[in-house]
Amino acid sequence: MMYCPKCGISLPDDATVCDACGARFDPIPDPVFDPPKSGKGKKSEKTTDVKDAFRKWVRDQGMFCLIAKAVAVTVMTVYLLIAFVSLITLIVQGYPGGTIFTDFIQKLLAGIIYGVIIWLLSDAVLYLGKLYEMKKKETKN
Ligand SMILES: [Zn+2]
Repeated sequence: MMYCPKCGISLPDDATVCDACGARFDPIPDPVFDPPKSGKGKKSEKTTDVKDAFRKWVRDQGMFCLIAKAVAVTVMTVYLLIAFVSLITLIVQGYPGGTIFTDFIQKLLAGIIYGVIIWLLSDAVLYLGKLYEMKKKETKN
């Protein structure tokens, strides 16, 4: 059983036209009646908004900054892995306690700091590039 998205009346699953209000629609597998203003519609709108924003963000980045950001994320991930591997190794080897977590946190922090620095540098390059293009347009006009 499904419900008409327009008037909410219950209809057979394979219905493509509402018996009550005459609305045409594709059968929806979700049996919950969703009025147009419900949270579900808003959610999907939001996710498309986020996707659009992400696509725009990627476009704005340009190849260089995208690569730089990929490197930043990779550096963070690698350091995170190194930190965890060394933590596990130290625990397995029965390394005397106390320094284990300092070592782990140091590696973790190093990864985050390097990642953030690379990320911010790529943003700075992006910003300077935009500034440069704006100046170029200004001098042309
Ligand atoms: Zn209807």
